[in-house]
Amino acid sequence: MAAIQAEPTSRDYALALDAADDLASFRDRFVIPDPSLIYYDGNSLGRMPAATASRLREVTEREWAAKLIPAWPEIWNAMPTRVGDLIGPGLLGARPGEVIVSDSTTVNFYKLVHAALDARPDRPVIVTDRDNFPTDRHVLEGIAEARGVLIRWLERTNVHGPQPADVAAALDDQVALVTLSHVAYRTAAIADMAAITDLAHQAGALALWDVCHAVGSIPIDLSAAGVDLAVGCTYKYLNSGPGAPSFLYVNAEAQRELRNPIWGWWSLPNMYDMTLPSYQPAPDVRSYQTGTPSILALAAVEEGVKLHLEAGMPRLRAKGVALTEYAITLFDRWLAPLGFRLDSPREADLRGSHIAVAHQAAPTLWRALNERGVICGSRQPDGLRIGLAPMTTSFADVHDGFAILAELGRDLTVSHGVGNGR
Ligand SMILES: *Cc1c(COP(=O)(O)O)cnc(C)c1O
Repeated sequence: MAAIQAEPTSRDYALALDAADDLASFRDRFVIPDPSLIYYDGNSLGRMPAATASRLREVTEREWAAKLIPAWPEIWNAMPTRVGDLIGPGLLGARPGEVIVSDSTTVNFYKLVHAALDARPDRPVIVTDRDNFPTDRHVLEGIAEARGVLIRWLERTNVHGPQPADVAAALDDQVALVTLSHVAYRTAAIADMAAITDLAHQAGALALWDVCHAVGSIPIDLSAAGVDLAVGCTYKYLNSGPGAPSFLYVNAEAQRELRNPIWGWWSLPNMYDMTLPSYQPAPDVRSYQTGTPSILALAAVEEGVKLHLEAGMPRLRAKGVALTEYAITLFDRWLAPLGFRLDSPREADLRGSHIAVAHQAAPTLWRALNERGVICGSRQPDGLRIGLAPMTTSFADVHDGFAILAELGRDLTVSHGVGNGR
């Protein structure tokens, strides 16, 4: 990128970055009714692609209304594997046939944890970290209670999250499963997937990764890292819509060893064969389905994923790095002097596409930001989470939102003397 003459804090600097951004035109592929709204929550609910609206109309009118039930065998039955094969090889480094779209992340996580523990019956310990996403922690607590196994918690020491050495120290021949998030939902810290998976395998354990905040924000190579199992979200960076179904990954070797604990009819080789005397799962990743999937939701997933494949992960990652680097530059100039703390790694290669900033008046600031047309995440007690989805966030969005946050922070410091307390 050519050197920019303007000062990083000037709006011209942001406009020059936008002018040089070869992904800028992707913003036009989304429905954005209010262009002045600054949206820092694309890592929580991605914006709506324009193609999704027409696709949903097509599925409702030409498929559901016009074809009715014959559309199942003709079109819909294959969608979970078809969309899985777009996500797997395209965004996860998986081989075809290792990913399927079904259920929610929570349910998929539950299925794969049970499956992993069933495959290691003489090992009563699960390793995870205290800062893992609540649904992961609570599902593990419930499974631990139901099965009488133990959770060995990795305690967080800093913004960089669990390190290979922390995992190594928690491993022994009692551990069945190591499960962590690839990108931490709060700090955006990237965990070393390959090193940690390798350590788990050396100890005889399986590795299950939650890639909810990684997919669509950083390149992932599950095959190269030797990962056994993974789950992830489509409604965040993948722009698939509110409550869009999740995907799960079971690598080909693990498919031979593990079994979905929910024996639903969609896990059969042919769900229409109702004469089977007893359960026999499909010989492939379809065995990880449970019941009837939402076809409208799956169609929306396909559109969101196609946009990401078109943009390509290398370009999306480069833009995500540039956006968070720029945000941290503005943080240092404007927010650090007002008593804000950066709660994310400063090293770009150890950080996903969002940053967390902390301030003791964060809840007040969050409400004030909302009133000024800046939507971001709030994390109790003192955190603001700023998601910079690469496909739909401009550098001007970063500039303008940070300028507003700095203004609000200065007002607080002046009126209440708040901000330098920590
Ligand atoms: C968003 C998120 C989930 C969401 O789970 P749902 O079942 O879709 O509600 C799970 N894990 C992580 C790490 C997340 O960031």
